[in-house]
Amino acid sequence: MSFEFSKIKKYVSKAKKLANMPPNLATPGIMADKLIEDFSTVPGDYLHLTVKKAATLPLIKAVDNEDGRLLILFHNCDLYGVEERPIVLIGKGVCFDSGGYNLKHSNMHEMKFDKAGAMSVYSVIKACKNQDFPRPVIAILPLVNNKIGSSQTFPGSVITTTLDRTVEIRDTDAEGRLILADAIETAQRMFNPEIIVTVATLTGSCANALGEHYTGMFSNLIDCPDVTRNPLSTMVFASEKAKDPIWPLPVNKEHVKNLKKSKVADIMNYNKKECGGSSAAAFLAYFIEDTPWIHLDIAGTAWKDDEATGRPTALLLTWLESMVKEGN
Ligand SMILES: [Zn+2]
Repeated sequence: MSFEFSKIKKYVSKAKKLANMPPNLATPGIMADKLIEDFSTVPGDYLHLTVKKAATLPLIKAVDNEDGRLLILFHNCDLYGVEERPIVLIGKGVCFDSGGYNLKHSNMHEMKFDKAGAMSVYSVIKACKNQDFPRPVIAILPLVNNKIGSSQTFPGSVITTTLDRTVEIRDTDAEGRLILADAIETAQRMFNPEIIVTVATLTGSCANALGEHYTGMFSNLIDCPDVTRNPLSTMVFASEKAKDPIWPLPVNKEHVKNLKKSKVADIMNYNKKECGGSSAAAFLAYFIEDTPWIHLDIAGTAWKDDEATGRPTALLLTWLESMVKEGN
């Protein structure tokens, strides 16, 4: 089987345009409505999207109990039959990140770009729909604002997730990993994914380590015996082909162990003693249950000179093409 996306640049531009939107015009509610309307213009199955309110999602609710939500978009999925397992793409959609009670202290205007992961994933599933990509794909977009205010979660709070894991929120500015964890639990509980890819402007540490050229890549597939034939190496080749550079960084049990030192919960969302990019990835890894997983930390690459770059849209589209060609 062979499949190629045309007009990749068009989808990169779309992701850019959405990520550039100012926070007053791109609240979670406004963005959800906008994306639903845009996605509905493409003819397809009736059941092509669903929206879950924050009330049913404990970690999303802990970050934004007013406007938070989870948007789920489907392409080519037969949700009632036993069909091919879907590729699940999860994008962090923090429409504005003030840090919450752990308030940020510099360059806060840039935090409108904290939704770039979700906007890139949206653009990718729109391309799949427009061009009839031959495999099932699900996009899961947690959309929130991380604000300050009397109803915001205090550092030290303990939240119980849908699957009864307990999380101590040590730092309210480490909110991206919380909303992604809710999305990961939802994906595994409902969709039996073949693979999960998380895309997020997740850590300043990753941006500091790799600069603005390389997206950080983490995965539980690195130790896979046949590493040359797995979706991770396909991602590396796609990166070269798309000229959308990535660089591997480690995530392992030691990083997870460091987050399990909470005295009041199963895991904490932040422990300053550990390297930030790997630690954030480890938090996500804790929620992944034997599902192949690739995590792209785009904190250094999602915007440049006050403008979104649209990355990693080209990478993801090229990777999806390769997943079809190689029969992965
Ligand atoms: Zn934050």
